[in-house]
Amino acid sequence: MIPMFDWNRILFNDAPGSFLLEVAVRSTIMFLGLLLVLKIAGKRGIKQLSIFEMVIIISLGSAAGDPMFYDDVGIFHAFIVFVVVMLLYRLITWLTGKSPFVEKLFEGKTECLIDEGKFSMKKFRRESLAQDEFFAELRLRNVEHLGQVRKAYLETSGDISVFFYPDDAVKEGLSILPELFQKQVSYISASGTYCCCRCGEVKQLTTGAHSCFICQGTNWVVPIYTKRTT
Ligand SMILES: [Zn+2]
Repeated sequence: MIPMFDWNRILFNDAPGSFLLEVAVRSTIMFLGLLLVLKIAGKRGIKQLSIFEMVIIISLGSAAGDPMFYDDVGIFHAFIVFVVVMLLYRLITWLTGKSPFVEKLFEGKTECLIDEGKFSMKKFRRESLAQDEFFAELRLRNVEHLGQVRKAYLETSGDISVFFYPDDAVKEGLSILPELFQKQVSYISASGTYCCCRCGEVKQLTTGAHSCFICQGTNWVVPIYTKRTT
């Protein structure tokens, strides 16, 4: 039987005062642990939130939720977690303002994914972002092919920002419409202009098999040259 409305239990769960210190240490460890795991899992945040902000929400949410219905979690202990998380938040925010290294560590940094209509391959490989996922993001911004895109960046929030060429500067580029992208070939049967399916490089190819001199990709598709409809 749990005695109802025993305030000593509700607030402190009958734990000794020294346990509050342990809660503070536990919170710090779990906060940093969570940050590390999410960082290793891949750097993309979730819409508008950096990994650092996600960790704060998870920590606060979990601390707030548990004492709501677990009889053995004291409300005061949750408050300790709040205080520790807020202190860590203030500390890390202060540190990120002081040091670019800490800022990169906790907030990540903006990466260029498309440069002048082609993939920035080195950057792209390092990010945990699949090509089809990226294409989907571009299609949602009405992009038909990479030749329309001057720059695209992966923001620390996980969002993608896109900058377009003006209509008269649109180049031939890799189509990201699935029905065209799927028409890729590894053997060129008619010479002409093709683009690499991996990095978007546009090249004149003769009949035969070719590998891309930028990314060593072996699949090619005919580029398209449509202007952007806005
Ligand atoms: Zn290539």
